[in-house]
Amino acid sequence: MLDINKIREDFPILKREVNGKPLVYLDNAATSQTPKQVINAIVDYYENYNANIHRGVHTLSQEATDKYEQARQKIQKHFNAAKPYELIFTSGTTHGINLVANGFSSILKKGDEILVSAMEHHSNIVPWQMTCERTGAVLKVIPMNGEGELIMDAYDQLLNDKTKLVFCNHVSNALGTVNPIKEIIDKAHHVGAAVLIDGAQAAPHIVADVQKLDVDFYTVSAHKMCGPTGVGVLYGKEEWLKKLPPYQGGGEMIAEVTFEKTTYADLPHKFEAGTPNICGGIAFGAALDYMHAIGFENIAAYEHELLEYATQELLNIDGLKIYGTAEQKTSVISFNIDGLHPYDIGSILDKLGIAVRTGHHCAQPIMDFYKIPGTVRASFSFYNTMDEVDVLVASIRKAASMLI
Ligand SMILES: *Cc1c(COP(=O)(O)O)cnc(C)c1O
Repeated sequence: MLDINKIREDFPILKREVNGKPLVYLDNAATSQTPKQVINAIVDYYENYNANIHRGVHTLSQEATDKYEQARQKIQKHFNAAKPYELIFTSGTTHGINLVANGFSSILKKGDEILVSAMEHHSNIVPWQMTCERTGAVLKVIPMNGEGELIMDAYDQLLNDKTKLVFCNHVSNALGTVNPIKEIIDKAHHVGAAVLIDGAQAAPHIVADVQKLDVDFYTVSAHKMCGPTGVGVLYGKEEWLKKLPPYQGGGEMIAEVTFEKTTYADLPHKFEAGTPNICGGIAFGAALDYMHAIGFENIAAYEHELLEYATQELLNIDGLKIYGTAEQKTSVISFNIDGLHPYDIGSILDKLGIAVRTGHHCAQPIMDFYKIPGTVRASFSFYNTMDEVDVLVASIRKAASMLI
């Protein structure tokens, strides 16, 4: 059992008020809040050893390099990757996907097929469309059903020997659906296709074991798992990272440069051009330490209770419909109320101190599927309380009575 009140003490922001009301932060699927342990790691870096890494012989540079590489090892351990250099620091999930999509631009040929799930974030659609434009490869969509689950029979039908790549999110940010990624990966490998899993929305709730999954690429952002913005990680299998060309040119990613020819550095530096977000990488490591101290299993169990309770209470509201009713879900609830615009509900909730997301959640194809302009999305984290669920439900009732 988690001591939620004690956990909440770690998050200074949870004490603030919004519009004269205590903040109820339910936009965790967009970004999570930051505990003081992570804030302290950031302050410690700038107060005590701010320096560029891998370049200086001086003490500060060595300290910064050691801490940065230790963070990489923590992340390696977390995802159970075989080698630390299979983890590439990025600016976030979007960067990681673009890195892989760009690399595949020089591998894919005209007529090759790549499969995308119907419930992707725009950041896992647009880069692949760009790759298809460049290569003549064809993008095909794995459809979903009304519950917000992928139709696996249709996936089986789509796979063939022209399929070179499959990409899918582990968890949908708009619906909360947990996708059966092990099955998706195994079936793709059966036809010789590689798989990229967008783990941005899963990472705060589920520990992915990249070796057990046998996944080729897995991307996450630190800011959705108690870390800072502007940093994330791309896991890639060594053989793939060796095969892909570099994404950006610059300092740090080279072995030798002359005007005639440049040779690239070994992994991971080949993909880490320029000065990275050093402090962010170190803070990401601190965020993982923090979450492991609480325990991912404890987090998932408690968030499941929040999800069940909130779902049950919300469904008692007249005219409220939940989108995304998959059997396997994280603590994300997307909903609308008959006749009301999500934006109007969100605005009134903000006046009452409640932060939710409204709109298409960077997943317009899902909204098109349900023929709606968007939803209100409440997403819960382990520092939310059952009382906050009650405040949400009472406030939605109030908003609805004002708007109807
Ligand atoms: C948040 C999110 C992204 C984008 O992450 P960034 O940190 O903005 O790069 C991609 N996919 C999913 C499923 C997400 O939830």
